[in-house]
Amino acid sequence: MYSQVLCGLCQNKEVLRVGAVFASGFIRAIRFLENNWSLLCKDIRNGTIDTRITDASVRGAVMKILRPDSELADFIEAECNKQSWQGIITRLWPNTKYVDVIVTGTMSQYIPTLDYYSNGLPLVCTMYASSECYFGVNLNPLCKPSDVSYTLIPTMAYFEFLPVHRNNGATNSITVPKSLNGKEQQELVDLVDVKIGQEYELLVTTYAGLYRYRVGDVLRVAGFKNKAPQFNFICRKNVVLSIDSDKTDEDELQNAVKNAVNHLMPFDATLTDYTSYAETSTGQGHYVLFWELSFNDSTPIPPSVFEDCCFTIEESLNSVYRQGRVSDKSIGPLEIKTLEAGTFDKLMDYAISLGASINQYKTPRCVKFAPIVELLNSRVVGNYFSPKCPKWVPGHSQWSNMN
Ligand code: AMP
Repeated sequence: MYSQVLCGLCQNKEVLRVGAVFASGFIRAIRFLENNWSLLCKDIRNGTIDTRITDASVRGAVMKILRPDSELADFIEAECNKQSWQGIITRLWPNTKYVDVIVTGTMSQYIPTLDYYSNGLPLVCTMYASSECYFGVNLNPLCKPSDVSYTLIPTMAYFEFLPVHRNNGATNSITVPKSLNGKEQQELVDLVDVKIGQEYELLVTTYAGLYRYRVGDVLRVAGFKNKAPQFNFICRKNVVLSIDSDKTDEDELQNAVKNAVNHLMPFDATLTDYTSYAETSTGQGHYVLFWELSFNDSTPIPPSVFEDCCFTIEESLNSVYRQGRVSDKSIGPLEIKTLEAGTFDKLMDYAISLGASINQYKTPRCVKFAPIVELLNSRVVGNYFSPKCPKWVPGHSQWSNMN
């Protein structure tokens, strides 16, 4: 990271695009710059590379680019020293035309932060891919992030699709089972047979030998390019909060959180990152949301605002959840736990220490693994509960419809 940022700064006029695979990785790089710019400027001024970079081949490669440049170092220092980092990307790299990052799915959460740092440069999502297989491309790269669709390339793998039926928002199964049952096998459709507007789980049979591998993503058919279907990325399928008969998937949680953070706007605070946990070990089971915030203003946020956020999330969740809260009383008030700054970086560091790749890392939107829950709980700075029950109208849930 240090060496790449150093090279990018040394060649700042030549940089035409900045990015990383996922938005979260790119924001991490900006935070790295925030924490290390004075060291980087020292190296640019002296034409040296910090001794903490020990890999000989990396040092050699960077030294080929580096020249002592005090004028550039002064310029970068002056920009980074300014109180506001708004537009820092276009200030440091004035010829940047766009930010090349994936901001679809839950990565859309980072769009306001990217807009802030880039002064609204186009955010370009070029591809939809995984370690197992490359899936598709965005044929309209300059479109708005909310309009992005991916055209699957039929020669990349053999693609099949399992229709997903949503019950009041949540997808039809809690986790992605490894293999398909007989009914599911009959339901599978081929790429040529998908229907516009329908949501599907993606399965791939790859040249490397995976057979009907369940990728775990839910896609929706947005349209066609000639006869090739184009898909919106909706969510990961196996991210589900559940206490009782409720199921809340990634997409629904993301929308609920988006509605809630509107309450923070008057305080000039933004949500840096979030995850969730179904707390069932103590008392009444309830949803816990872990929020890390960043504050541009020093005005403290009153507890009532966080309580309003809890309530808005509950109001935004599906009717099975609200029935559990209001009528069955099987679900307790939703809780928001606010976290110390830097907690999600720590979480990423932890995942990387267990072998995750920094470039492919994605914040888990729901956590279950005890060491991660412990890490989050050890950095809680405040906790708030929903003060009242959300609205729920009998007769509007899947269960009462069935009765
Ligand atoms: P990995 O195999 O770790 O690289 O992760 C692949 C997963 O990343 C996919 O199955 C998706 O869940 C997610 N992903 C990849 N590309 C995109 C994209 N363009 N938009 C949203 N999520 C994506």
